[in-house]
Amino acid sequence: MTSESNDSLPTTLVLTLDYELFFDRSGSVENCLLRPSAMLTDFAAKHGLRLTFYVDVGMIVWLERHAGKDRRFARIGDTIKRDVERIGCAGHEIGLHIHPHWEDTRWENDGWSFAGTRYQLGQFSPGEISDIVDVYSNCLAGIANDEIESFRAGGFCVEPFDVLGPSLAANNIWIDSSVVPGAFLLDVAKGFDFRHAPSDEFWFFNASPLSPEADGSFCEIPLIGFLVPTGFYGKRMFHRLRVFSRFKIFGDGTSRKPGKLEIVRRLVGTRPIVELSIDEPKVATLREEARARQDRKVWSILGHPKLLSSRSLELLRQFKTERGIQRSCSVTEIARDVRSRKSATLTAGRLGKQA
Ligand SMILES: [Zn+2]
Repeated sequence: MTSESNDSLPTTLVLTLDYELFFDRSGSVENCLLRPSAMLTDFAAKHGLRLTFYVDVGMIVWLERHAGKDRRFARIGDTIKRDVERIGCAGHEIGLHIHPHWEDTRWENDGWSFAGTRYQLGQFSPGEISDIVDVYSNCLAGIANDEIESFRAGGFCVEPFDVLGPSLAANNIWIDSSVVPGAFLLDVAKGFDFRHAPSDEFWFFNASPLSPEADGSFCEIPLIGFLVPTGFYGKRMFHRLRVFSRFKIFGDGTSRKPGKLEIVRRLVGTRPIVELSIDEPKVATLREEARARQDRKVWSILGHPKLLSSRSLELLRQFKTERGIQRSCSVTEIARDVRSRKSATLTAGRLGKQA
């Protein structure tokens, strides 16, 4: 349905930021969240962008639950909540991002220990999933002082959707932005498989975001997948040495390495598809991808404040100009837009049949 209904859409940037710490060594709240997010909102104000921040609310819930044990936790929790509130007040959307590993996270040796935690919602019981979605959505709505309408699964692990979907719907969340068409991560603990996802710019669904249904009550605003260029992972290793400050990320934590299966696949297999992003080092491909897809209308691009470098925003600015971006909006705005176009199309179809 999307090809005919895309034609009248202006070229739109939907930039989404996953607001979270690292999953190996967490890094500091100051360098992974506060400073890079302030840079992003300053940039957005200057260039007229409206962003969506997917807030890892499990982190805030954890801090609230442990606030009585250590005054530091209450203080850090308040700082993060004030920052999220600030972002919302600046006109950006606050969306729900669930990393359920916080449910199992412990505080050890003056830092968070994520060892042995469950990474995906699918590893929890149906009752636990529905409790997590309820508690996290309510917590976030309270901080944002607004309704939460859109969702992104931690690590894109949105499947299985059978328990998650009704829990999201019970909290009035009707938009998902977890799918990267074509992407596939071979990892028992944190893998996903979007090789058979639609390649459209948006679609509707009920039971699974991988099975579009024209009358679906959920709307998918997928990220854009791109085939990584040859030598990408070699370059990434080089950039990790952080020889040049332009490539140095703002965040001061570390990500967990992929499992052995995925590493072997990258070494010997075909080039993978990953999400288009303003993060290091993916941001280097942004302008090239923009040139290669002249007919695309919805530019749904990911970023993580913790993974930005000083060149990220400069390359985003160049992309915006070169691609002729006419509008920048939140995930919920674009979803509302395509939903109203869909009902107009359905109504026109019904009127056509009656005539
Ligand atoms: Zn995340």
